[in-house]
Amino acid sequence: MRILIVEDEEKLAKSLKKGLEKEGYAVDYVTDGESAERRIEIHSQDYDIIILDLMLPGKDGSVICKNAREKNITTPIIILTARDEVEDKIGALDCGADDYLVKPFSFEELLARLRALLRRPEHNLPTELRTQGLSLNTNTRKAFCMLCGGTEILLTLKEFRLLEYLMRHPNEVVEREQILSHVWDFNFDSFSNVVDVHIKNLRKKLNHNNHDEKILETVRGIGYRIKA
Ligand code: CA
Repeated sequence: MRILIVEDEEKLAKSLKKGLEKEGYAVDYVTDGESAERRIEIHSQDYDIIILDLMLPGKDGSVICKNAREKNITTPIIILTARDEVEDKIGALDCGADDYLVKPFSFEELLARLRALLRRPEHNLPTELRTQGLSLNTNTRKAFCMLCGGTEILLTLKEFRLLEYLMRHPNEVVEREQILSHVWDFNFDSFSNVVDVHIKNLRKKLNHNNHDEKILETVRGIGYRIKA
């Protein structure tokens, strides 16, 4: 899952990025309204969630949010507001945001809200993702092999996020670039073989648990597919 943070307090942006990366999210941040709007317009397909501060230099968060919705960009948006007044909260939701957090907020609450947003129907995301022989708990971040009595498959955080992304698109051919842009941040370019390396390791672990290799299929020249 890839997150865009729009926050002009760079210290806060950096610490959120660091904390979210520890949870396995891929994170980019921008610190002013104009770059935020550009980034969202051009790259909205790459982001699974946008965390958007209201008070920003260049352009207000609520305007950015409103403009994005007018352009039919449906990426979930969490607004960060420093004001705890009812009308500010209503304003945040009315500009088209999905949720808001009042500063200062606890990091744990932000994580819970991110999980909740990612569970929404348009993302088709229950807490428990299941495919043929595999079960993934997105809250506890554990993966289990159902063909071998529910044995846990020990994955690194990045492998987990990769498998999670694939399992959220069952039976779909997911392109390499699509994986790269949703599981890794802006610093990885498409010439990097980071996706292939992680797929290789992931497949090894899945096969280690006596899975049919076809559970994680390679579609030559295009990408990868997980069977539902
Ligand atoms: Ca601000």
